[in-house]
Amino acid sequence: MSPNTLAPARSMCNNKDMETTTKTHEVQTDERIAQTYGEFLAATYDAPKSTDPRTLDEYAIWESAENEYDGWSRFFAVPGGHIHSSMNCSTCNRVTNQSGQTFTAFAWLPALSGLTAADAIAAHGHALCSVCFPNAPVSDTNKSVKIADPVQEALAARRERNIAEAQARYEAAITPELDALVVAFIEAEAAQKAYTRTVEPSEWYQGPAFEASKAAYAALNAGMPEGFDFYTRAKDLGVR
Ligand SMILES: [Zn+2]
Repeated sequence: MSPNTLAPARSMCNNKDMETTTKTHEVQTDERIAQTYGEFLAATYDAPKSTDPRTLDEYAIWESAENEYDGWSRFFAVPGGHIHSSMNCSTCNRVTNQSGQTFTAFAWLPALSGLTAADAIAAHGHALCSVCFPNAPVSDTNKSVKIADPVQEALAARRERNIAEAQARYEAAITPELDALVVAFIEAEAAQKAYTRTVEPSEWYQGPAFEASKAAYAALNAGMPEGFDFYTRAKDLGVR
């Protein structure tokens, strides 16, 4: 068979080439699932101490995301502890008792998902759980993982996501009509401020300039989504 006859088949199904340039299915899927786990960790942080973590909505969402999991290798670090091959390792307390008040927060390492244990170890140093990795040398199981606290990481990720979502909402809200309302209000407000400099304070909140500014604000308020940062938009438009 000449190399040419192989070429079309390869280009249609070049998974091996894909792996060098994009993430594997295992990594992509676990990154998605790990995000729902992170949201669960953030929710446990917010919940009252007496809450069973398993009763949180975020727990159900994570559990449902796990339906995509097909049994590939996974790696979970416990800061100051070890790397485990699952969250159900007997040396960890995923949920320790009936009330479920205590559980281990894992630093999920989805970038390693699907790797052999040896490859994962090579990538992430030697701090392995001897139960999950019974063949690991004892010298490796004596070490501990130096990694950020997963709950704090989850809270930071949530903050970043909230900021990104707010920014996306802000950008999606912008229309020529809304910009016109912003400009009209900023100009009316400036006119009213200029007017206040010409009269006594007792007259600041009356007269045509004040009424115009009030009307422009009402129109803007009616035409913009709640919480829209119109002063930032005015700055972006160069009118403030
Ligand atoms: Zn383990």
